[in-house]
Amino acid sequence: MTIGGKAPIIVQSMTNTDTADIGGTVAQVKALARAGSELVRVTVNNDESAAAVPHIRERLDAMNISTPLVGDFHFNGHKLLKAHPACAQALSKLRINPGNVGRGSKRDPQFADMIETACKYSKPVRIGVNWGSLDQDLLTRMMDENSKLAAPLAARDVMREAIVVSALDSAKRAESLGLKSDMIVISAKVSGVQDLISVYRNLAARCTYPLHLGLTEAGMGSKGIVASTAAMGVLLQQGIGDTIRVSLTPEPGGDRTQEVIVAQEILQTMGLRAFTPMVIACPGCGRTTSTYFQELAQKIQNHIRHRMPEWRKRHTGVEDMSVAVMGCVVNGPGESKHANIGISLPGTGENPVAPVYEDGAKTVTLKGDRIAEEFQELVERYIERTYSRNPS
Ligand code: SF4
Repeated sequence: MTIGGKAPIIVQSMTNTDTADIGGTVAQVKALARAGSELVRVTVNNDESAAAVPHIRERLDAMNISTPLVGDFHFNGHKLLKAHPACAQALSKLRINPGNVGRGSKRDPQFADMIETACKYSKPVRIGVNWGSLDQDLLTRMMDENSKLAAPLAARDVMREAIVVSALDSAKRAESLGLKSDMIVISAKVSGVQDLISVYRNLAARCTYPLHLGLTEAGMGSKGIVASTAAMGVLLQQGIGDTIRVSLTPEPGGDRTQEVIVAQEILQTMGLRAFTPMVIACPGCGRTTSTYFQELAQKIQNHIRHRMPEWRKRHTGVEDMSVAVMGCVVNGPGESKHANIGISLPGTGENPVAPVYEDGAKTVTLKGDRIAEEFQELVERYIERTYSRNPS
C-alpha cells in the first residue's frame, strides 16, 4: 500500500476490543475491513496484547483479509517490541506517540529503541502527536521561551506550534536514527476544529511527510461527524491529508464500522474517492406524510452497504453509481433522470405509482406492496448489465 504523493487517500480505523481477546479483535477487524477500512490500528498495551497480534494476523490471513494492522504503542512500546518480535513482524506499521515514549532521560533511548525495531523489521512509523499527551517538557520550554519575547504569542498559538515542533523534531530524529523519510507518516491530532486546521496547514507547509488526518475525541453521533467533516473537509480541499480516520465515540453497543462509513462519505461526497454507490434522497416534506419514503430510502441504503463487498469483487466501477430515491413528483423524476437509476415515490394524494428511470429514461412504473423489493431487484439487474464483471 502506498501512502502519500498521488496515491488515493486511505481510510483507516481503530478497534476498541481488548487486543488480547484474539477472537473479538479478529471479528472487529473483519467487520471494519468489510466496511472498507484499508488500515486498522490496534492497541498494543501489554504482553498479552503483543503476544496476541501475530495470532490475529494469522487468523485474518486465513480468512483472506489482508488489511494491514498498525500497532498503537504508548509508554512501554520499546519493551513490548523487544520482548515480542513476532508482534513487530506481524504489524505493518508502528504508531509512536512522542509524548508518551518516556519521561526525562528515558525519552530519547526509548524512542530510539522503537525506531531501531522499525528499521530492523522494515516497518513504517507514524509519529502520532496528540495534544492530550503533548510532550510536556517541550511545551514548558516553548512556553518559557515565549514569555521572554517582547511580544509573546497567545498560549494557544504556542501550544499549536509545540504540537507541530514535536511531530517534526521526532520525525527528524527518527531519520537520524536510520529510518528512511519515506517510512514516516505524521499525525498531530487535536480536538478543536480551528486548531486542527491551523496545525495541519502548518505541518503541510513545513514538511513533505505523508499526513494522517483526524480530529481526536470528535465525540458522539452528529456532533462527532460534523466536527470531523468540518475540519477535514477544509484540509482535504487544500490537498492536505493522505490517510484519514474519523474518531467517533460509538453509542453503547453501537457499530464501530460507522467511523469507516463516515470517512468514506467525506471523501466520496467531496469527489476525492468513490467507495460505494451514492444514494441521493430528498429530505421529504409535507408531500411525504407517511414513513414509506424514509423506509425505502433506508432499505436501499442498507441494501447497497450490505451488497457492496460482493459487488466490489465482481463489478468494476460500481462505486461510481448513483441511485436516487425521491419522495414525490416535484423533483423526483428530474433527480431520477440525473442518477444512474432512480425511483420517484408517490407523494400524498398522488397516483400510487412509482416511476423508475434508468440512464435518464423511464423504464418501468412500480406499484403495490413490493415496491422496495422490486426496486432492489432493478438495482441488482442494472449493476449486473452495466458494470463489467471482474474475473473471479
Ligand atoms: S421531492 Fe417532493 S417530497 Fe421530496 S422534498 Fe421535494 S417536494 Fe418534498
